[in-house]
Amino acid sequence: MNIRSHELFQEALRYIPGGVNSPVRAFRAVGGEPFFAQRAEGSRVFDVDENSYIDYVCTWGPSIAGHAVPEVVEAVINRARLGTSFGIPNPLEIDLARKICEWVPSVEKVRMCSSGTEATMTCIRLARGFTGRDKILKFEGCYHGHSDSLLVKAGSGALTLGQPDSAGVPQSFAQHTMTLPFNNLDLLQKVFQEAGKLLAAVIVEPIPANAGLILPQPGFLERLRELCTEYGALLIFDEVMTGFRLAKGGAQEILGICPDLSAFGKVIGGGLPVGALGGKREIMDWLAPLGPVYHAGTLSGNPLAMAAGLAQLNLLEKNNGFGRLENSGAMLEDGLRKVLQRSGKNYCLNRIGSMFCLFAKEGEVWNLDEAKESDLPAFAKIFHSLLNDGIYLAPSQFETGFLSLAHSEEDIEETLRAFHKALI
Ligand code: PMP
Repeated sequence: MNIRSHELFQEALRYIPGGVNSPVRAFRAVGGEPFFAQRAEGSRVFDVDENSYIDYVCTWGPSIAGHAVPEVVEAVINRARLGTSFGIPNPLEIDLARKICEWVPSVEKVRMCSSGTEATMTCIRLARGFTGRDKILKFEGCYHGHSDSLLVKAGSGALTLGQPDSAGVPQSFAQHTMTLPFNNLDLLQKVFQEAGKLLAAVIVEPIPANAGLILPQPGFLERLRELCTEYGALLIFDEVMTGFRLAKGGAQEILGICPDLSAFGKVIGGGLPVGALGGKREIMDWLAPLGPVYHAGTLSGNPLAMAAGLAQLNLLEKNNGFGRLENSGAMLEDGLRKVLQRSGKNYCLNRIGSMFCLFAKEGEVWNLDEAKESDLPAFAKIFHSLLNDGIYLAPSQFETGFLSLAHSEEDIEETLRAFHKALI
């Protein structure tokens, strides 16, 4: 029963465009209405009608240790008692920046901000300032937040709504953004031959997770790294999703590739609003006040966000977090492959660590066009069947599922039983 959620949604529609503060939450891609959260604990979210769901959205990535983890909650409460924001440097900013530099070898300096959007936007401005070039290259289906230059052939909500290009972005801005299909080496080399010297930067989700989940083919990102170096373009890894989720050093550690700049968010804020960019000292020092590239923020380095992020990173480190997340991911993948086999559905399942996506489509998915071949009504059916059984997947085919440290073997078994029901 969703009586209270339905009432709240009607009320929300009166005051909030579409009733939501971020479009994909509106359930437009799967039909029906969103439920309203009352509270969350561990692996579960509880709605205002007292339904409980095993949560594979994990607030779109941040709550990697689970919801309302005592260590994170305590850290926030203790800090809040000392003041919620200062707009003056505070010691926790250094602690988190140091930790990021220690965990991610390509990062020598870090600047905090309040969202992933701000982090990627500032990376682009910094790359343009540093190189003196205007053009950037991105990949179809990669989402890098909603700044103007990056809302071109974007993934996530932009894709779900069928509006890859937003209204309100002047053509004269978008013309500086070139796009290419992911995993296409031939086209990549051609574009570099033609325009490599004009490129300030190439921005990429090293493991794209906003068009479903797509893995890089061996050699693709390695060649991209070489081309960027050869042509003097900066390589920006958008690790807002993958950073501090796949390994201490993020996707770049797993892939063994060293970007010039990286964007972070989500996990480093422990569920509070945060973003960060980091990279080589000589590039980062182009930011104000040292350099001519402007970036600022009233809430940048907010003490509550720093405290929550640090508490969560410490938990991951202390408890062999990344190993445990890989084990849970492997258990879910193995189980789901068996369920698929039993149900006679040959759907594509992509998984890395604690990130996964089941495409309602046979064959492989290596780029946006292949992701878009998914059977969206079939996905919607699976989504609603799971939701009915208390399993919450992201309400769109073009999103990635997340596991947290709080997901237990019993949770995964319950999830597999619900998948079996949903797939037959
Ligand atoms: N980059 C990536 C890879 C993301 O997944 C997201 C958000 N899902 C962003 C950037 C934007 O982050 P935010 O929503 O915090 O602005």
